[in-house]
Amino acid sequence: MSSHYDLVVIGAGSGGVRAARMASTYGAKVAIIEEYRLGGTCVIRGCVPKKLFVLASRFPEQFDVAQSFGWSFGEPKFDWATLLANKNKEIDRLENIYGNILDGAKVETIRDRGVVTGPNSVRLAKAQQELTADRILVATGGRPFVPNIPGAEMGITSNEAFHLEKLPKRILVNGGGYIAVEFAGIFAGLGVETTLLYRGDQILRGFDADVREIVAEQMKARGVEIKLNSEITRMDRCASGNIDVSFSTDEVVDFGEVMFATGRVPNIEGLGLEKADVNLNAGRAIHVDAYSQTSCPSVYAVGDITNRVALTPVAIREGAAFAETVYNNNPTAVDHSIIPTAVFSEPEIGTVGLTEHDAGSSHAKINVYISTFRPMQNTLTARPEKMMFKLITDGETDKVLGVHIVGPTSGEMIQMVGIAVSMGATKADFDRTIAVHPTAAEELVTLKSPTYQLENGIRLA
Ligand code: FAD
Repeated sequence: MSSHYDLVVIGAGSGGVRAARMASTYGAKVAIIEEYRLGGTCVIRGCVPKKLFVLASRFPEQFDVAQSFGWSFGEPKFDWATLLANKNKEIDRLENIYGNILDGAKVETIRDRGVVTGPNSVRLAKAQQELTADRILVATGGRPFVPNIPGAEMGITSNEAFHLEKLPKRILVNGGGYIAVEFAGIFAGLGVETTLLYRGDQILRGFDADVREIVAEQMKARGVEIKLNSEITRMDRCASGNIDVSFSTDEVVDFGEVMFATGRVPNIEGLGLEKADVNLNAGRAIHVDAYSQTSCPSVYAVGDITNRVALTPVAIREGAAFAETVYNNNPTAVDHSIIPTAVFSEPEIGTVGLTEHDAGSSHAKINVYISTFRPMQNTLTARPEKMMFKLITDGETDKVLGVHIVGPTSGEMIQMVGIAVSMGATKADFDRTIAVHPTAAEELVTLKSPTYQLENGIRLA
């Protein structure tokens, strides 16, 4: 191991790996330090294993629908241990790929904990060795936040949910964000009696109001109990081994597991940032400029640690922009304004651009187009679930400001729509596009007149 580098990256997750690879490709001498597993949250205990669990949880519905198309088969059985073992195998495979990619890009991978000791130095906690670098990139991500409630240590977070020895009979998922909603769908789909608890009025704060409502409604129809305006006040182990959960509404209910999905906090503890005078912002995330540079000119930060938009493709883009700016003499700032995103809840959500509320507050006139219908795969069954397509346009310029889709494959659809919205497409551009038939997505280009309009944020009759 050498001891001086052009760049030392702390954290081999989505952002760190992309930055390290690209910087090395541009000729920098790079080391990346990882204390846990290569690939970071997304690969090891985030997006990837979560999506595998989501896919597993969707089979019961497909078995149900298959019968309406004439299929018959024995009673399907689910084995959690098989899913876990296969998931672990896949994650090991992906971690190896990350290692090979870093090796192939000639990045030195150091399995240790990195601690900043100055503007140009990082200490390896286990090896007790000091590295020096012209620049340091902090890409240490975030971790689950667990509220300070008596007995909370009996609960689990998404980290542990990926390794549960067995599925409980009954689970309480605490939280209203996308991770909580996704895990509620996973557990319910796998046959666990699931309660989703959120302290606010409606789940999925920040999403379009119609999306929030339709998703909550359909989750309930699929058997998830949603408890709103309530909080956990304490948790006690009961004789059966279950956890008695006391709620602010004075009820006490016992659950086999309680999962906290109550937000994430940046991983800054013990990172030594004060040794380099790196400033934090109000959320105790690292404060950076548009080029991911911190208050210490030789220290940069990308990804969840900066709490801009905590998504993998954003961390990757920030890592790439950093390398492009610093090692390819091409100043590149990431545009965080239009980010297509999916929630792999049941039903799935795909969304890009402004919500109706935000569009109405920032534009004098907006048009809102809404279409709801039963997806074709449900038409031979009695299943009542509907899809929703919602398009919000600027009443003055005709520009598409937001697209919100609820239902099967909306995550896939929104990636494509995201291109058009990023390009500044108008409703006329959508209308000019010939429909693909018969698909659900054709709805996007066949929405005729507005369902309603808003002027200065007020809905017209
Ligand atoms: P991370 O990927 O978290 O990587 C940080 C790395 O730094 C980790 O490997 C950590 O071990 C290491 N580290 C920390 N401190 C040190 C230290 N001192 N020394 C050495 N190493 C250190 N995003 C999506 O876009 N789509 C999804 O569907 C999605 N699903 C998610 C589901 C879950 C359950 C969770 C938790 C997250 C999900 N995310 C999803 C978010 C996504 O995982 C993160 O936004 C992304 O991983 C952030 O990348 P990062 O590089 O900032 O940090």
